[in-house]
Parts: sequence; structure tokens; C-alpha cells
Amino acid sequence: MVDELALAVRLQSLDSKTASLELEVATLPKQLAEIERKLEAHNRRLEADRAALAANQRDRKKLEGDIQVHEQKISKLRDQMLQAKTNEQYRAFQSEIGWCETEIRKGEDKILDFMEQSEPLEKSLKTAESELKQQAERIEKEKARVRERIAADRKQLMEVQAERKDIVSRMDPKFYADYERIRRKTHGSVVADATDGHCSACMITLRPQFVQDLKKGDRIMHCESCSRMLTYNPAVSFENNVGPAATTA
Ligand SMILES: [Zn+2]
Repeated sequence: MVDELALAVRLQSLDSKTASLELEVATLPKQLAEIERKLEAHNRRLEADRAALAANQRDRKKLEGDIQVHEQKISKLRDQMLQAKTNEQYRAFQSEIGWCETEIRKGEDKILDFMEQSEPLEKSLKTAESELKQQAERIEKEKARVRERIAADRKQLMEVQAERKDIVSRMDPKFYADYERIRRKTHGSVVADATDGHCSACMITLRPQFVQDLKKGDRIMHCESCSRMLTYNPAVSFENNVGPAATTA
């Protein structure tokens, strides 16, 4: 295989690696944001539970205060009852005491309701709090993992770019310009294989004479249909032949 073609194959693989790394680096922060959003949603649910429990306790306290007021009023009415001069007055006090006692019973019933409601609320709040704590820990780990991944990707990108620069420096500028032109046109697939008589990219059947010329491997040939550079019977792993460790140019 012509040396420059081997370089083009390697360059194509580096460019594809660059594209996937860049995509990952662009996508990972979105994953982080998604993770944060989940935690916020959980936090909001917890806040709602806390608010419900606080409201329950506030209402209970209010009822307890009301009951106290009624109790004080009853004791005052009982004192007044002792001073009653007529049966009518006595009955009036009695009826007012009865009303207060009814109010106290109503308040006590409501307090019982509130207590019943607060029990599951407290339980679910406790569960939610412990879940949130665990979730926050998981999320911190996940965030650290994503950040590490981004850093590793950036490092690899730099390595890929350095190798790319090295390969480009070993290419004839005109050949590299060709590579770039085809790369833009084909969205990154510059080199195709034609060992079976077809262009592996656009699938066109190649002329027998064209294949004969390609077999010789003494010059770069382009697919007559899609203009990609064509390889014929490339080494099993030609990428290894032009990796940074081995030099073919
Ligand atoms: Zn083709």
C-alpha cells in the first residue's frame, strides 16, 4: 500500500476518534445537569413534606391554644355561676359552659386527626431524608466519575491532535488538501476498500482495468463515483503499521 494512503487511513481513524471524543465531551455536562435536576426534584418533594408537617404542627398548636382558652372560660363561668342570682342566670352560664365543652371536644377530635395524619408524614419525611442523603452521595460519586471522564477525554483529544499533527507533517501538502476536501464531502470517510471489486463506501462496481491498476499499488487511486481514496487488500491491521510507534514515511 502506498505509504501516504496508510497515513490517510490512520488520519481517518484519528479524525473519527476526535469526533466521538468531542461529542462525548459535549454530552457529558448535559448528563451532569440531568443528574442535578433529579436531585433538585427530590429536594423539592422533601421540602413539600416538611411544609405539610409544619402546617400540621402549627394547626395542632392553634387548637391546643383554643382549648386552653375554652378551659379558662369554663373555670371563669363556674365561678360566675356560684354568684348566679336567678335560675335563668344559672342556666345561661350552664349553657355557655356546655358550648365551651362541645368546642373543646371538637378541638380534641381535630387534634387526634392531625396526630393521625402527622404519623405517616413523619415516617415518609424520615425515609425521604435518608434517601436524599444516599442519593446525594451517589450523585457526588457520579459527578466525580463524569468529571474524570471529561478530563480523560480532553487528555486523549490532545494526544490524538498531536498525533494528527505529526501525520499531517509527514504528508505531501497537496495530498493532505485532497484528504481534507474528501473528508468534508464525505463527512469523515475518506478511505474505502475495494478488494472485492466494489467501492466499500458507495458500493459501485469498479472496472476490471481500474482494479488491475489498483492492485499494483503504485499510486493513490480514487473511486470514480464517490472520489474516496481506495485501498486494495490492505494489511490486516494497517493502523498498527502507521501508529505513533512505527514510521512508514
Ligand atoms: Zn466510491
